[in-house]
This record gives sequence, C-alpha cells and structure tokens, in this order.
Amino acid sequence: MKDQLNRPLRDLRISVIDRCNLRCQYCMPKEIFGPDYPFLPPSELLTYDEIERIAKLFVQLGVGKIRLTGGEPLLRKNLPVLIERLVQIEGLHDIALTTNGIFLPKYANDLKKAGLQRVNISLDSINDELFGEMNGRNVGVTPVKRGIEAAKKAGLGIKINMVIKKGMNDSEIIPMATYCKENELELRFIEYMDVGSTNGWKMKDVITKKEIYRKLQESFELEAVEADYFGEVAKKYKYKDSNVLVGFITSVSESFCSSCTRARLSANGNLYTCLFNGNGHNLRDFIRQGADDAAVNAFIKTIWENRRDRYSDERTEETAKQRKKIEMSYIGG
Ligand code: SAM
Ligand code: SF4
Ligand code: SF4
Repeated sequence: MKDQLNRPLRDLRISVIDRCNLRCQYCMPKEIFGPDYPFLPPSELLTYDEIERIAKLFVQLGVGKIRLTGGEPLLRKNLPVLIERLVQIEGLHDIALTTNGIFLPKYANDLKKAGLQRVNISLDSINDELFGEMNGRNVGVTPVKRGIEAAKKAGLGIKINMVIKKGMNDSEIIPMATYCKENELELRFIEYMDVGSTNGWKMKDVITKKEIYRKLQESFELEAVEADYFGEVAKKYKYKDSNVLVGFITSVSESFCSSCTRARLSANGNLYTCLFNGNGHNLRDFIRQGADDAAVNAFIKTIWENRRDRYSDERTEETAKQRKKIEMSYIGG
C-alpha cells in the first residue's frame, strides 16, 4: 500500500493521553495550557481494547513499528498492560515509548516486563535552573536523571531527545553532549519545529543541524554512520573515541518527507497522516458505530492512498503562521 508520493505505511505513533505533568515552552506553554484548559475527558480517549484492535489492523496494512507517546504517556493508567497486549501482535517487530522520564523510576521495571524494548527520554538541559524554566514547572534535572537510571537498570534501550531553541538552550549543546557521552547515552538533537499554533515559532529561533554540528566539532571528533533502514529519521554520527552515537532530527533544515512512512493516532482516535495536519480522520467514532475490521481497514487504506503530505518540504515563515495545525501534545511527537 503506497500513498500518492509512493511512500509505504510502516510506522504508527499513538498518543495515549493529551495531558502532561510538564509545560515545556515549545510544546505546551503554561500560559495556554493552564488550569482551565479543556483536556479530553476519559470517555473520549481510545480504550486499550480499541488501541489494540486498531494497532492490529495497522500491522495488517504494513506497520512494523509502534511508538507510544502523548502528552506524557506514563500518566495513562496501567500503560504496561497496553504494552503487554501490543507486543503479542504478530508482525509488529518494534515498540517504543517517548517520555519525559519522570515516572520511569515507578514504571521502568513493569514496562520492561511487559515487553517494551526501548525508550526515548526527553531532556533539554543539564542545568537545573534552565531546565526548570523550560519545562514550565520548575522541575529540576534530578528526577529525569533518576528516570534514566531506572530505565538503564531495567534493561531498556535509551535515547535522549533534546529540542534546541535559539537563545533558550543552545548553551547546553556541549554540556548535554558531554553528559550523554560519559553516560553512554545516544543523544538526538531535535530542531525546534512549528508544531501546533501556540508555541509562537519563528524560523529565526531554529538552530539547524549544521550549526549544532559545527558547535559539537569544537569539542568532539565525529564520524558519520550509515542509516539503519529506509525512512530512518535521525542522521547519525559516532564519537571517534567511543561507540556512543549522536543523532540529528533535521525536520526544518533538511526535511525528510520523501521517506516519511508515519501515521499518527491522537488520544481520541483521530488519524493524521502528517504531524502538521489541521484535521484528522475520526477513526474512533467509525469504530464505535460498529464498523467491522474490513471496513476499518478500507477506511485507513483510502486515507493512506490519498496522502500527499510534505509539509516540511514546503515550510516557510508564512505557512508556519497561517496553517492551522494540531498541537503536539494532542497528536504526540
Ligand atoms: N511527554 C513526552 C516527552 O516529552 O518525551 C512525549 C510527548 S512529546 C510531545 C514528544 C517529543 O516531542 C519530545 O521529545 C519533545 O521534546 C518533542 N517536541 C515537543 N514540541 C516540539 C517542538 N516544538 N519542536 C520539536 N520537538 C518538539
Ligand atoms: Fe509534556 Fe513532552 Fe510536551 Fe514537554 S514535550 S510539555 S513533557 S508532552
Ligand atoms: Fe512526514 Fe509531515 Fe513530517 Fe513531512 S512534515 S516528514 S510528511 S510528518
């Protein structure tokens, strides 16, 4: 099954909840996501039965990888139970989780036992004060470090996600790289993106991969590493004096739409074919109205086959402002 630009469907990102314990400025600015923000009521969230069923159908259509995300996915009750169910799906060869890491001391062992292989943990600074300011809740670095330790102990593979925004945390490029290298953690620098319409994104706030790379070269020697598979998003390097990898997600400066094989499912069951879509396709209601598997399969197939998205190829300062886009915390990163 291919879309209009000849791209197969290979990955599914599922947001399991739209709430989060943090208020990262670039994702859920606290001025907008305040105490009165209308988060989804529990009845609107896909149930685990629904997620499992949808996941199975996606696997039949070619998906081999699922990433659970949010909001903060570990705020969803009994997440290990969902993972346990997903790992049993025949044909699904990879399940991952993106988390801010704060609840990992509580859940890492259960997640591993449930069959989870790896986690991406988000950490944007190793400086308590700056991190506290960025996450909008004054949470220091220690709780995340504890989460990283817990994931390590549990035997989960770990990558660290770091979003870089000019004037905010570019001073943390070398300290974060040093921390990750010393602790044998793969760090992924993520270019700041214009997701949603609440983070006030401007092109001038983006630090490109080239700039980050140049900065890294002042302190480290790096060598390029081949991509592992078609559609791998990160451009990867290795420190010459160690086996530790470092990657870049170049969504803004070197877009990768031509190999984008990802679909996204929001916490309330809307299907999106691009991170920058405004409207999704309501899969949940279709299912709740009693659609059988064949009908749901046909629904997904039609959507994928009509897909033409290539937002990052076309992004300009104007599109970033004008286009109505769904919030990252709702659709999942
Ligand atoms: N709460 C979890 C976390 O922070 O890892 C999972 C959800 S979060 C939306 C997923 C990823 O998206 C995180 O690594 C986060 O840093 C990234 N992200 C959020 N807003 C972003 C933006 N404006 N530009 C680039 N990445 C962003
Ligand atoms: Fe929450 Fe993750 Fe968004 Fe930060 S990036 S506000 S931790 S969902
Ligand atoms: Fe995929 Fe849309 Fe991102 Fe392009 S902009 S890589 S189509 S999610």
